[in-house]
Amino acid sequence: MQKLGQEIICHECKTSHMTVPIEEEDEAPVHCSECGALMCFWRDVVADETPAMKKA
Ligand SMILES: [Zn+2]
Repeated sequence: MQKLGQEIICHECKTSHMTVPIEEEDEAPVHCSECGALMCFWRDVVADETPAMKKA
């Protein structure tokens, strides 16, 4: 699992996710673990994570 720098809110069931399954491809879709709805793409997760890691 990848720990996120910020939570992702599922627009279908309103569940907040602080971790997502790690994907190998940038184009891989990230789905809600509760309802299975598409939330974003893996590249978006990685892009969000970069600034958070830099601020250390
Ligand atoms: Zn959901």
